[in-house]
Amino acid sequence: MKRYYFSIAAFLLFHAVLVAQDRADSVMPVRGLCIDIPRPAGVDSFVRFIDRELPSRKVNTLILLVDYRYQFKSHPELTDSFAISGQDAKKIVRACANHHIRIVPQINMLGHQGWEERPGKLLQVYPQFDETPWVKNPVKYVWPNDDNLYCRSYCPLAPGLHEILFAVIDELCDAFETNAFHAGMDEVFYLGEDKCPRCAGMDKAVLFANEVRMFHDHLAGKGRELWIWGDRLLDGKTTGLGLWEASYNNTYRAVDLIPRDVVICDWHYNRADKTAVFFAMKGLRVVSCPWRQPGIGVAQVNDMLAFRQESTPEMKDRFLGIVETTWSRTDLFLKGFYGTLPPAEGRPGKDNGENTPWSCFKAVFSRINELTK
Ligand SMILES: [Zn+2]
Repeated sequence: MKRYYFSIAAFLLFHAVLVAQDRADSVMPVRGLCIDIPRPAGVDSFVRFIDRELPSRKVNTLILLVDYRYQFKSHPELTDSFAISGQDAKKIVRACANHHIRIVPQINMLGHQGWEERPGKLLQVYPQFDETPWVKNPVKYVWPNDDNLYCRSYCPLAPGLHEILFAVIDELCDAFETNAFHAGMDEVFYLGEDKCPRCAGMDKAVLFANEVRMFHDHLAGKGRELWIWGDRLLDGKTTGLGLWEASYNNTYRAVDLIPRDVVICDWHYNRADKTAVFFAMKGLRVVSCPWRQPGIGVAQVNDMLAFRQESTPEMKDRFLGIVETTWSRTDLFLKGFYGTLPPAEGRPGKDNGENTPWSCFKAVFSRINELTK
């Protein structure tokens, strides 16, 4: 008899979890966290964080910023420092599967091929893919600079490039057992440069859109979905959003040229700009992405809910939800989250004080949980 009651209780609990999940999915289908892949030594703590903190907050999407910090078998020459192994990836996959969390791994495509003072792994190994090989990395980086150097890009028309990129994308999606991939493609400053022998003089919106389509079609062939950041699709000058958060180099017309089933991650960190409506009206699905200002993050959650409630049935389902971005090393994020980060370890002006990615994460998900009770 005892066992009978236990079974009933277990069934009711399971049912309650499913109902709560359904309710959350109908209010806010995507409830995400975007975070760096941990270093190999930090994988176990990251898995504990997933187990302890994400299910109770109803997080159902995890964008993992991997780049080349994975021990690639298809292209071992591209494996970067602090790369996790296939077994490490499986630990994360198992934890996420247990809690119905979808993993979306990211490798930065097109732009962000390294940081200000050095090229990234792809261009270190294959310098022939560089869009601006004539630009030298400075010893001490300053912005603005004569070369307009922020981060390097690869040349989307470089021969042999996509064969390599497709192989690492496929391997990463297989490792994380997922049907979605994030190609980054934000803050592309170098594209169709006048001195590039391949793409000089070409329409930058077309170059950008063709690159999106290339990844989209490759992924679609394997039943997978493409996610990208939205900034290159917004007109920076007319909107006043500027040249990071939006485009000053004429890529924004690509918004009408890319496939309609790409998911747009629309990031705004200092204001709750209503650009999600723009993407949805273009027929694109969109998530809003806050970073470290809790008030802005909560406003974006409220906006997303309002957009879903006040739109036509055609538009409503394009407002997918919220993905909180973190932009700090995962071990530092976890220390910040658990309140054990000594001030000296944070990035000055970024990871300390009230406006932190972990305080924003907590505020955003506390609001989402209120709305999805
Ligand atoms: Zn080029």
